[in-house]
Amino acid sequence: MPEFRQNRITGEWVIIASERASRPEDFHRDVSKPKPPTHNPACPFCPGNERMTPTEIIADRPPDTAPDSEGWNVRVVPNKYPALDPSSEVDWFEEANLFNGIAGFGVHDVFIDTPRHDLTIATMSRRAVEKLFFVYRARYNQLEKNEKILMINIFRNYGVKAGASLEHPHSQVLATPIIPTRTQIRLNVAKEYYDIHKRCIVCDTIEATLKAKERVVLETERFIVFEPFASQSPFETWVAPKRHCASFGETLDAEIVELAQIMRDILHRIYVGLGDPDYNYFIQANPARTKHRDKYHWFVQIMPRVVPSVGFELSSGIYICTSKPEDTARFLRSISSPR
Ligand SMILES: [Zn+2]
Ligand SMILES: [Zn+2]
Repeated sequence: MPEFRQNRITGEWVIIASERASRPEDFHRDVSKPKPPTHNPACPFCPGNERMTPTEIIADRPPDTAPDSEGWNVRVVPNKYPALDPSSEVDWFEEANLFNGIAGFGVHDVFIDTPRHDLTIATMSRRAVEKLFFVYRARYNQLEKNEKILMINIFRNYGVKAGASLEHPHSQVLATPIIPTRTQIRLNVAKEYYDIHKRCIVCDTIEATLKAKERVVLETERFIVFEPFASQSPFETWVAPKRHCASFGETLDAEIVELAQIMRDILHRIYVGLGDPDYNYFIQANPARTKHRDKYHWFVQIMPRVVPSVGFELSSGIYICTSKPEDTARFLRSISSPR
């Protein structure tokens, strides 16, 4: 029987279409992607081409190397074609009570994840992924000091289907003076849940998911990786810290190390099990300088692009998921961790 399921954290409904369900292994891509070169002389993100990007904001690089020179491990640079303008003021406007907005303020940076042109999180070394996640946190904390910013969205688009326009491994941050609509719904749900139960909805979901076991993919001392009960699409995967923590910026060093390891592990399983699919991941953070510290809990959402979205999903916001999260979790558990 097909089932409607609701994701209590996001408030969103999905249809788990078990009648049309595919076996997890059926989502494996048969066509292999062309293997990129380790270094591409024309790539603006490859070492040696540092002058092709705007001036670097922060980097993980040895102390004896100068900014915008070679030798770095991770670089953060402003997006050359930003969606938003960091120099603008936050100017609200409104016309006829109908047309309102804010003149273009915001920050749009690129993380160059690694100097190697041909790698991705699944194939990078454990140490290299750690460095990237430490830089995510460092940039998050820098941006949080800017009072004009309300929300810091860190995300990674991998592959053409996920919206990546450059091949070189990179992530992005978009810091906005508004709270995105989906985030606002998630925050409202968390507040309502807290008001009734005096508990964090993410902490309770983690506890219940661990108890039920069937949707858990991986568990470590500090993190859980699971397929949400109401997955929007096959292999949607969440990575959450077990310690209640409202702000990604307050993640402890030991947690960043473990988060990097576990992200590499789950993305490696997806890479092997599904044949290197395109994907997006985003850090579902909470508003900058959040005051509701007991109610909100950050996590990472991974969305492999194994099926296209269709009109019904765009019109209704209800996603039809053609696999059962219990089955995809079992499949991902059966794949071994990277070395
Ligand atoms: Zn490159
Ligand atoms: Zn919590």
